[in-house]
Amino acid sequence: MEDLSNLLREHGMRVTRMRRTILKMLITSNRSFSVPELQAHFGDKADRVTLYRVFWDFHSKGLVERIVDIDGVARYIYHDDECKALHPHFRCKDCGTVHGLPQLPKSYMEAMREHLVDSAVLWFSGTCQDCLRRNRLPINK
Ligand SMILES: [Zn+2]
Ligand SMILES: [Zn+2]
Repeated sequence: MEDLSNLLREHGMRVTRMRRTILKMLITSNRSFSVPELQAHFGDKADRVTLYRVFWDFHSKGLVERIVDIDGVARYIYHDDECKALHPHFRCKDCGTVHGLPQLPKSYMEAMREHLVDSAVLWFSGTCQDCLRRNRLPINK
């Protein structure tokens, strides 16, 4: 897992065990995490402030995306480089996987230029293809 350390260093961060652990979770799980979720996962092994700080660092260094959920909870997700521009996400309510959807059309971005946007909730929710297959439900064409 030398890659994780490199990835942290490339984004100007010192390598710590907690940063590596959380980054690995984000990359391998392909899903989003909020601080309360991680808190529940780590229990006594990590305090809330540390978790907030790790996410804060990741986000401010451009390593992860921060997306505010419909219920106002900030969720963090790792997407590779092709996923940098503003785009909606699809989250599977069965397995929790988050997929990046295509970037918004240029006309959207132009319309927004007229306004001062300080938050955007861009979530689609439902059942992903894998879960549909597993449950043998019909897949939308
Ligand atoms: Zn799924
Ligand atoms: Zn994304």
